[in-house]
Amino acid sequence: MGKFKAIIVPEKGQPAALGEFDEAALMDGDVTVAVEYSTVNYKDGLAITGKAPVVRRFPMIPGIDFAGKVESSSHPDFKAGDSVILNGWGTGETHLGAYGAKSRVKGDWLVKLPSGMSARDAMAIGTAGYTAMLCVMALEHAGVKPADGQIVVTGAAGGVGSVAIAVLSKLGYQVAASTGRASEADYLKSLGASEIIDRAEFSQPAKPLGKERFAGGVDSVGSHTLANILSMTKYGGAVAACGLAAGMDLPASVAPFILRGVSLLGVDSVMCPLPRRREAWKRLATDLDRGKLAAMTTEIPLEGVMEIAPKILAGQVRGRTVVKIGG
Ligand code: NDP
Repeated sequence: MGKFKAIIVPEKGQPAALGEFDEAALMDGDVTVAVEYSTVNYKDGLAITGKAPVVRRFPMIPGIDFAGKVESSSHPDFKAGDSVILNGWGTGETHLGAYGAKSRVKGDWLVKLPSGMSARDAMAIGTAGYTAMLCVMALEHAGVKPADGQIVVTGAAGGVGSVAIAVLSKLGYQVAASTGRASEADYLKSLGASEIIDRAEFSQPAKPLGKERFAGGVDSVGSHTLANILSMTKYGGAVAACGLAAGMDLPASVAPFILRGVSLLGVDSVMCPLPRRREAWKRLATDLDRGKLAAMTTEIPLEGVMEIAPKILAGQVRGRTVVKIGG
């Protein structure tokens, strides 16, 4: 056993730094994976900067997502050489995570890489993209159909938003993209948005009911934004809520629920049961245009994570960032 390159948070309150981690100190698990790619999600930004108590075990290798090849396994579903994806389950929070060349995890946490999808593509999608797919599946499950009208996507130029727009447009939905970055209008249209909305329209306290405007929504912003889009959701529509980029509060009224039968659909990716994960990844293999995925993706080396972490929290990262680690 040797050492491998990793980003390490040594102690609570200490900054993350690139270093070497002893393979013998990897945590328990029945599958050891050679990590090829990871990514930078909003939560990774919080973990690296220490802006929120995401990391709850020290020392920690942060990183909530990886794609790689199984090195060794005692789990019945996996053998050496299998290509796998991991999203969440506490990796990078309570279990040693993805920003290192090796990871040892429970096989029950892993999803096989869909055929035809590369490890790099899987991390270009990452937790943000897989969560966007869970949101779309939640809207479908609630009966929201393309013919019902426009779907609003908030935090549109971010990771969840960018993938949600691309998937929804491929499925035939009309998409309105809400963004604070007017300069990204062409980018958002290239992903499939047919209307760009200034996010300032949704940032003030919401009326109990607004004009019925959207058949549904994918919201990664929370707070007044979510309250506003709920108040503008048409009779019988639904909004999938997965994020808190503007805040964790929800200063809303029950009026949309009790007068318009609107549904608020909660979406969690971290502990999402395996069958739904597998379904989401299968859908991502077919319902996300790879050309659009490539257009929204930037690649960085492992040491680039520290620089990008504060930027994603400041809403300055467009689309998705993949981190090349090994392979
Ligand atoms: P990004 O930073 O890539 O995207 C967030 C976007 O939100 C920004 O690009 C920006 O979009 C918008 N935004 C940022 N700050 C504000 C603000 N103050 N007011 C209004 N809009 C704002 O992050 P991700 O896409 O990776 O994640 C988005 C959110 O979803 C995060 O809160 C994250 O924690 C959550 N999340 C939750 C998951 C779950 O399991 N429930 C899984 C994955 C993510 P623009 O510039 O277009 O306005």
